[in-house]
Amino acid sequence: MTKYIITTANVFIPAEIRYTNISSTYLPADVLNKLLKVFGKDSTLVAGVDVYGKHAYRALKEVKNKNKYINDCKTKFRNTLKLWGIEPDLYIDSDNDKMNEFVEYSIKNLQNKGLIEKVDDPTFYCRDCNEELSKSECNITSKEENRLKKYDKLDDFINEDIECRLCGGQNVEIRMEHQWELKLPRTSFLTSLIEQQDQASNVCQNMQGIYDNNFNTWVFTRNNYGRVMPIDKDKRIYLWYDSLISKLLPLTNNPENVSNDLKESEYFCYFGKNILPYYSLIMPTIFKYGFNAEQMNIKYEARGFCLTQENDASILSQDVYTPEELSRVRLFVLSRVPDKIKDYKLTEDNYKQFLSGTYKNLIKYFHRTSPILSGAIIDFNSDEYRIIENHVLNGRVNKVVSTIEQWAIDDLKEIGKNTYDIKKVKNRHAIITKVIGAIAPNMIKELNYTNKISQVNQAILEKKYDHSK
Ligand SMILES: [Zn+2]
Repeated sequence: MTKYIITTANVFIPAEIRYTNISSTYLPADVLNKLLKVFGKDSTLVAGVDVYGKHAYRALKEVKNKNKYINDCKTKFRNTLKLWGIEPDLYIDSDNDKMNEFVEYSIKNLQNKGLIEKVDDPTFYCRDCNEELSKSECNITSKEENRLKKYDKLDDFINEDIECRLCGGQNVEIRMEHQWELKLPRTSFLTSLIEQQDQASNVCQNMQGIYDNNFNTWVFTRNNYGRVMPIDKDKRIYLWYDSLISKLLPLTNNPENVSNDLKESEYFCYFGKNILPYYSLIMPTIFKYGFNAEQMNIKYEARGFCLTQENDASILSQDVYTPEELSRVRLFVLSRVPDKIKDYKLTEDNYKQFLSGTYKNLIKYFHRTSPILSGAIIDFNSDEYRIIENHVLNGRVNKVVSTIEQWAIDDLKEIGKNTYDIKKVKNRHAIITKVIGAIAPNMIKELNYTNKISQVNQAILEKKYDHSK
C-alpha cells in the first residue's frame, strides 16, 4: 500500500506563525491527511520547528536557558496548530536525534560524487552591530544613480555604498570566506518531477521557470550558526539543508533505506510559493545524489499568499474557538484558498459571504438530509467517489469543498422532486459526510445536538419510505 507523507514548511525559532501560514499550508495539509485517512489510505502528516538558522541564532543570543527557550517555542507552535484543530501525526524538529545521521550520510555521498566543493563566497559584515548580514539585510545604493539597487554578482556591488538594515550603520564590509557549495545537475529526473505535478494546477509552469533560471549552485554553509558541517568543523550547515532532509525522517529511521522507501511512498509538500525553488530543485537533488534515490513521487502543493488587509475577517485572530466556530473557520479558509499558486484574501466581507453561502448551503443540506440518509455507506466503485478521490490524490482540497457544496445544492433540489435516484443521493451523502468530518469535525455533531425529530421535514420522510419499497 502506498504510504502518503504530507509535509508542511518548517517554522524557524522563535516559531511564530500567523493565520496566513495556517491558511496556505497547515490547514490544507491537515485536511488532506484526514481525507486520505477516512478514505482508507495510509497517511502521515508531519510538522516541525527549525532550531538552527540565523533567526534562531539571534533569538537565542541573549537567552540564558537555551533549551527551555527552544522547548517553549516548540510548545507554542504545537498549541497554535491545536487551536486550529490541526493534528500532525509526527513532529520532527531539526534537532531531532536522527538528523545528524541523515545529514552526515548525504554529505558523504554528495562529496563522493563530486557535487560539493569549497568556494569563495562573500559575507556582509556590519562593524556597527557585529552582525553577519544576508543580502536582503543590506541596503545597497548605487553611487552613480543614487538609488537602491538589487545586484546579483559580487562585482556589481563591491564599489557601492552598503547600509545595514538591522542598525542603519554604514560600516558594512564584504569579506570573502570559504563556504561549501552544492552543484545542482540539470538531468532528466527534474523533468520527471514536472510530469508528476497536478496538470490542473499552475505549479508546472512555475517549476519550469525555476529550472530555466541560471540557478546551478547553492552555497549551503555559514560561519557561525547551524549544525556543524561534518567534513569541516569550522563551518555550519544552513537551516534549509536540515529542513529539507528532515522531510525524510517520517519515511524511515535508516538513511540507507531512503532510496527504496521513496519508491513506495508519495509526498505531498505544502508550503508558500516563495520557497518553491528549495523544494523543486534543491530537495530532489539532495534526495537523488545524497541518498541514491532513483525514483521519487512528490507533489508540490505550493500556495499563494494571503493578502492581509485592514478588514481581515476578525474571527481569524481569535485565541480560542468554540467547536462550532472552529468548524466554520476551517471550512471558510478551505473554501477561499485556491489549490494553486495564486494569492487570496480572507476579509470580513468574504466571511459574511461564506456564512450566507457555502456554510448555509451545507447546514441546510445536513439539516434536511441527515435524519433520512445518515448511515449510508460509500460506494467505492461509483463515479462520485472517483471524482473526489481524484481531487484528493492531487491535493485539491479547495476543489473537494466546491464539489461537495455543489452536490449538496443539487441533491436538495432532487429530493424535492418525486423521482430521484436514491442510490446516488445516498452515496453522495455518505461521501459529503466523510469529507465534512475531515474539514469541520463538529459541524454534524452540533447539528445532531439541535436537530430534534420534530424539525424533520415530514414530506422528505414520506418520500424516503416510497423509494425504499
Ligand atoms: Zn548593523
